[in-house]
Amino acid sequence: MSTLDEKVRALLRPQILALTAYRVADPTGYVKLDAMENPYDWPKEMVDEWLEKLKQAKPNRYPDPQAARLKAVIRARHRVPAEASLLLGNGSDELIQIILMAVAGQGAVVAAPEPTFVMYRQIAATLGMQFVGVPLHSKDFELDMTVWRDALQRHRPAVIFLAYPNNPTGNLFQLEAMLEILEGAPGLVVVDEAYAPFAEATFMERLAEHEHLLIMRTVSKLGLAGLRLGYLAGAPAWIEQLDKVRLPYNINILTQISAEFALSKQAVFEAQTRQICRDRALLLTALQSLKGVQAFPSRANFILFRVKNQPVDAVHSALKKAGILIKNLHATEGALSNCLRVTVGTSDENQKFLLALKEILTAD
Ligand SMILES: *Cc1c(COP(=O)(O)O)cnc(C)c1O
Repeated sequence: MSTLDEKVRALLRPQILALTAYRVADPTGYVKLDAMENPYDWPKEMVDEWLEKLKQAKPNRYPDPQAARLKAVIRARHRVPAEASLLLGNGSDELIQIILMAVAGQGAVVAAPEPTFVMYRQIAATLGMQFVGVPLHSKDFELDMTVWRDALQRHRPAVIFLAYPNNPTGNLFQLEAMLEILEGAPGLVVVDEAYAPFAEATFMERLAEHEHLLIMRTVSKLGLAGLRLGYLAGAPAWIEQLDKVRLPYNINILTQISAEFALSKQAVFEAQTRQICRDRALLLTALQSLKGVQAFPSRANFILFRVKNQPVDAVHSALKKAGILIKNLHATEGALSNCLRVTVGTSDENQKFLLALKEILTAD
């Protein structure tokens, strides 16, 4: 080891040294079905109109630190209750970080189902916080309330994250179980509705009934992943404090203008979302009809499936060789053994994926 490596190891916290960075494959030349992006480009007239709006941007000036106009658009379009306050983040990833930075220390524990979105654990680790993963039922990926009751008692989590629908399993957890956790939680409960556009289910209207509930949303999966914008809705008493952790100009000027514009084009995104939901149904049926594949129903814009008779790593790399990128979850956790996750693309992309998969599964 060089002396620089030694210096790095001596200086940085062990939790950081032990982490693996979040890596994304280079998508150049691939059919990209690994990151839950909306596959549709904007109509040309919409692009022209957007570029016209961007001319107002003054890159020499700081953006509005409160992003007041954008917040007003979000409130109007996404039915945020009037009593709730909003906090904007550079993606919801940043909001997870803000929440956890605000509670870190004093032995605060973070809890979430397992498997779920990896950033809860990853960000907790960077802050040296204890993370408790509460295993889902392995058959249907529902919340296991026996284990949850025990975990709530034993760990008294300061923050619980519930992705609704869950990533990477795609299901909406049973409402009664969600409510029981919400009622039994000693700290904050963050319901992460990243896939709300595809789910037709939300806890937004329950904000008023539960003062320790926060709703987290992102525009990424809707079709604006490049903008990096998420928001948190909740009681002003929480949001005021969390806002102190937020860096002052976290939503840049281009994102503010672009998101305001895009959210005013609701019909375009609603049509795309409907198309994605129709294609999701077709893709699920097609996957379920393949021999050696177990595909799980989804309320999000992706489908989780298990490959039963072939080594899943080989299937994943054969797909890549065929020009198709999807996510391999096999290594992550026991419940996801032999599992892959495919994002719903355009119908052409889905066909390419299905054809390639069929060929791989039938070749010997
Ligand atoms: C994709 C995803 C996010 C991250 O969204 P960004 O706003 O792009 O940071 C958050 N939560 C879940 C469950 C996700 O799947």
